Amino acid sequence: MAESKQRIVMIPFMAQGHIIPFLALALQLQQRKDYMVTFVNTPLNIQELRSSLPQDSSIHLLEIPFNSSDYGLPPNTGNTDSLPYDLIATFLQSSLALKPVFRKLISDLVHESCCQPPLCIITDMFFSWCAEIAPEFGIFHAIFCGGGGYGFACFSSLWLNLPHRNTDSEEFTLPDFPEASKFHVTQLTELLRKTDGKDSISVFLRNMLVGWYNADRILMNTVEEIDKLGLMYFRKKIGRPVWPIGPALLSARTRARAGKETGIAPEVCKKWLDTKPLNSVLYISFGSQNTVSASNIMQLAMALVASGKNFIWVVRPPFGFDINSEFKAKEWLPEGYEERIKDSGRGLLVQKWAPQVEILSHRSVSAFLSHCGWNSVLEALSCGVAIMGWPQAAEQFYNVKLLEEIGVCVEVGRGKTCEVRHDVLARKIELVMNETEKGIEMRRRVCEVRDMIKKAIKAEEGCKGSSAKAMDEFLNAALLMRKESNKMGTNGEGSNSKQLCPCRDGAGEQ
Ligand code: UDP
Repeated sequence: MAESKQRIVMIPFMAQGHIIPFLALALQLQQRKDYMVTFVNTPLNIQELRSSLPQDSSIHLLEIPFNSSDYGLPPNTGNTDSLPYDLIATFLQSSLALKPVFRKLISDLVHESCCQPPLCIITDMFFSWCAEIAPEFGIFHAIFCGGGGYGFACFSSLWLNLPHRNTDSEEFTLPDFPEASKFHVTQLTELLRKTDGKDSISVFLRNMLVGWYNADRILMNTVEEIDKLGLMYFRKKIGRPVWPIGPALLSARTRARAGKETGIAPEVCKKWLDTKPLNSVLYISFGSQNTVSASNIMQLAMALVASGKNFIWVVRPPFGFDINSEFKAKEWLPEGYEERIKDSGRGLLVQKWAPQVEILSHRSVSAFLSHCGWNSVLEALSCGVAIMGWPQAAEQFYNVKLLEEIGVCVEVGRGKTCEVRHDVLARKIELVMNETEKGIEMRRRVCEVRDMIKKAIKAEEGCKGSSAKAMDEFLNAALLMRKESNKMGTNGEGSNSKQLCPCRDGAGEQ
């Protein structure tokens, strides 16, 4: 019965790359019969989510008010998808306004069900401010980082220590993470390279990262076996369990319902892939909010022709243009390119949004040229697809570093200002996709990683994988805290001051 289930409240940041893993985790949690999920987000995202949930889903969607125009953003901005890159920092900062509204929402939930307040709140990594709210109500709080351990360990250490400012060299190490070996300044975003830590976005990011240390626990969308070093960093720094529960991935079916308009119907894409030989297709996408420069689009187009490989390319306008606007092939690709690849049947250009999971899980696809956002990484690894990394932002540079270390990736470009040459890129495509020693080894290794991931999420009693066990440990810890606070009568608002639940002591609301 719904009443006897423990409620878990979840709130992701408003970006596709954050909402997708949160929704995947919510769907996993609702399958456990003892829990129900309340999924909180701003109205525009909740509207989209309504259509993406499976019909039999019991996930409860709850709106939290947010008006983008109040923060100098275009009206009706619900998600980073629809924003130009230079407004993403403003959007991030505007999310601080959610703190008091979320506190009120939790307070309302506690009062509505004061004998059974939420068991746990799972917030986005950007909402570490919840560590100040959850204890007020005696509720267990976990941050779910949709990124990987290593990538975020490097990101966190770089932002908190700014080690590149203490050296004239282009190479440096991280003071609290020497195990991560050397970094090069080209692996820093322009913002990170230039900051002294005092500008408003740096203050936001640093406060957010320090806030992680106050959460009861950290959940990471990763797998112990492939991400030990990064997990070790956080475990050492935070001194509390950090649980790798990944990969939390959305199935192609749930995505198909997600109402996200794809530039190509999944069936058309599949039909095209069906005509291609096994392991012969390169898939190219820079995720939901990135693109490359106009000159690099040209170079990539020429490299694809030179390599002679089949390809699916999610084309987005270059930097400087609205990435959600129409892609002008006549302007941004070599003359007659679109017609030539259509006639030869060698390539598919997809505008805006592709059915990525369907593509990656097709047997014809052998490599993915990716910006290495962590969702894309997990999707590729889970399908046994080798990666060609071209990181653009955030922790993507360090994801590539980890993937090269594991032996499943070759870096082909770095950052927004690098100039990639078509002949060099074509050689790298051949290296990865042909029967070269490196290509064969990468494909062997990525299949090994795919199998490790399958094992990690195995949930059968007696042979549970590492991610399934981590999920059990997390839920048990939340239940234990609930039991202890029940014993002490410290659940509900004001629990820090040991105030009793009004239902139990008969007192009215304070
Ligand atoms: N995605 C997709 N089709 C696209 C572009 C992106 O389905 O054309 C999905 C992709 O499968 C992934 C998410 O959007 O789940 C992007 O997340 P990621 O962490 O890879 O990158 P971000 O967009 O956050 O930079």
